[in-house]
Amino acid sequence: MAKEKTGEGPPGARAISARDAEPVGDGAFTASGLYGTEFEPPYSGALSFMRRRYTRDFDRADVVVFGVPCDLTTSSRPGSRFGPRGIRVASADLVWGEHWPWGFDPFDRLAVVDGGDVTFSPGYVASMLEATQTFAGEILARGASTLSLGGEHLISLPILRAHAAHHGPVALVHFDAHSDTWSDEPELGHGNMFYHALGEGLIDVARSVQIGIRTHNNESHGFEVLDADWVEEVGSVETARKIREVVGQGHAYLSFDIDCLDPAFAPGTGTPVVGGLSTQLARRILRGLEGIDFVGMDLVEVAPPYDVSGITALAGATLSLDYLCLLARDRPAVGGD
Ligand code: MN
Ligand code: MN
Repeated sequence: MAKEKTGEGPPGARAISARDAEPVGDGAFTASGLYGTEFEPPYSGALSFMRRRYTRDFDRADVVVFGVPCDLTTSSRPGSRFGPRGIRVASADLVWGEHWPWGFDPFDRLAVVDGGDVTFSPGYVASMLEATQTFAGEILARGASTLSLGGEHLISLPILRAHAAHHGPVALVHFDAHSDTWSDEPELGHGNMFYHALGEGLIDVARSVQIGIRTHNNESHGFEVLDADWVEEVGSVETARKIREVVGQGHAYLSFDIDCLDPAFAPGTGTPVVGGLSTQLARRILRGLEGIDFVGMDLVEVAPPYDVSGITALAGATLSLDYLCLLARDRPAVGGD
């Protein structure tokens, strides 16, 4: 974490058991503090990620969630511009307080706000890149960390630029069906942004790892590659151990492309590839990443137009929530009961 704020809950902070509280409603703008969970019916109310308060005041936040509704360079099916909205909708079904199987409410421990979406000129990649880097940079400058909702995977590049400017090069923990390091494409896009990130020195590649890959690339570019077959073969415990070993000490950034999951679990994405991880396997791997010093995460490529019963958005929201639990795991509760 970029700063330590535990033990200094803001005035009015309260941690309320989700099922004990009288519904107030519209917590996205009525919440009395930044901590705790207040129950409201999942089908109603103003939508924010996990009903966190919407604000552009990042000073008291540990983590700022924001969306980047962009699918400008998607190589196949567009639609991930609707991803941030879809994940927020799905997250309303997860507002229970304690999150299984973690056994605690991460919002009792972390001040998480929803910063809304990055605004840029529709249709202009350069505008998205600049606006997203500025947005992420503002969050980091305020001492908070980022949880970004895509949007296509290209959004990781400006976010990594902001992180590298703030922290120096970071280890990349990259879940994906695709390496996204193809170097033969003329234009910047969602299939090559990590190649460019390497060239810009944003990534400490010796400490970086790709998980779930199942598309061909002649070059690893120095990444440790744990392909989908290997992960399936060895299981979650060994996969998580290997990731921890590669990353070691120092800052790390988690980038989760939802197409790492098999299309049976995540059909709502632009470039699905069969033979991927189950949502359950991915969750178990994430839970095994304790001890890694994550400074940011993105969850990208959720494309609700191709989703079935919202399962892809639900997987994205759940994995994002699991990441917050991972951050909160060793922190004490703040305020309230
Ligand atoms: Mn992918
Ligand atoms: Mn990707």
